[in-house]
Amino acid sequence: MPGNSLILTQADIYTPQKVVTAGAIVIEGGKIYFYADKLPPDKKCSADLLGLPQRRAGLKPCATLAESLNLKGCILVPGFIDLHNHGAMGIDFNATPPQDWLPVLKYMTSQGTTAYLATLISSPHEHTIKSLTAIANYCSRNASPFAECLGIHLEGPYLNPQQKGIHNEKFLRLPNIPEIEEYITAGRNYLKMLTFAPELDSSIIPYLVEQHIIPAAGHSTAGYDTSCRAISAGLKYAVHTCNAMPVRHHREPGILGAVLEDDRVCCELIADGIHLHPALLKLVYKIKGARKLVLSTDSIPPAGLPPGQYCLQDQTIVNDSSRLSNPAGKLAGSSLTLVTAVKNMLKWSGCTLSEALTMASFNPARILGLANKGEIAEGKDADLIVFYPDLTIRMVIKGGNIVWP
Ligand code: FE
Repeated sequence: MPGNSLILTQADIYTPQKVVTAGAIVIEGGKIYFYADKLPPDKKCSADLLGLPQRRAGLKPCATLAESLNLKGCILVPGFIDLHNHGAMGIDFNATPPQDWLPVLKYMTSQGTTAYLATLISSPHEHTIKSLTAIANYCSRNASPFAECLGIHLEGPYLNPQQKGIHNEKFLRLPNIPEIEEYITAGRNYLKMLTFAPELDSSIIPYLVEQHIIPAAGHSTAGYDTSCRAISAGLKYAVHTCNAMPVRHHREPGILGAVLEDDRVCCELIADGIHLHPALLKLVYKIKGARKLVLSTDSIPPAGLPPGQYCLQDQTIVNDSSRLSNPAGKLAGSSLTLVTAVKNMLKWSGCTLSEALTMASFNPARILGLANKGEIAEGKDADLIVFYPDLTIRMVIKGGNIVWP
């Protein structure tokens, strides 16, 4: 959906790796056409007026007057990308038909998330096939002006029952390639990530890599050696690192030791201060560095709704306003948003704003192999957040259109 022409001036632009003070961005046709430290006094948008020598390959300069916004004092950053999100506002990506997702998409957008993987919890085979088919059809239409569904993350069903979290044990099973083939067929090329416990059968990893599906570890009790072998075979992502992956013993560092120690693995963090103590967020940041961390939410349908009791599959989920759990007190996803995760990392880990933004935008885009997102640069998608100096969100731009507020 091509956006209108838009010129944003005077904002501090976080690319996110580099900061351009009081810079300007020109958006054309949903893409970032140009960005620099200043615009000429005449705000007319044309290649000549901007001093551009030639048209950039594949990008047409705008011929008409563009809307211009002075964002003096504001911070402009790439939109956030959530690789692990089950839903919010009562909508479950695994159960609610995509045509009814508008409230969750608006909610995510208002929180700075401009793209996401619809994440499916372990379910009966036929149910997963139905969800994959519906979401793949939806993705192929790319119909939402709000947060964009980049594809599907299957969390399970190949998880270790000993670390099942709130996944229903009766749906958990051993990995098998014929079943995964059916998932790939149903999800077409929109099945992007599969989370599984490597100790169950890591021989699926080369197959997943060949099919361009990101092999991710989670809900696992794998030992250190098993985990190292899985990493060497192509495992490159760890979901909700530390959660549902115990250190067995200081002489057996297990999967947690392996994913923290090996630079080939990118570690996802639920930075809400509940899933992980702030000191552990700081420790993991010190170990992995900003380039090997991804902030995600693990948001579930009761997120964004008032405190109370809700239902997820056949389980009761208690939302006590800060924490989501089952009646036994076991954590059940989160009500975190990525903008809060970014602020929490700043507060607790000691990272810089550029680094926190890298974890919420650049890194998830690169994990997905998307060169057009997660970064402010010429030719990239104009998915942007405008912050006030205190990091409250002033505006969200998706595909060059102002979509929030
Ligand atoms: Fe999980």
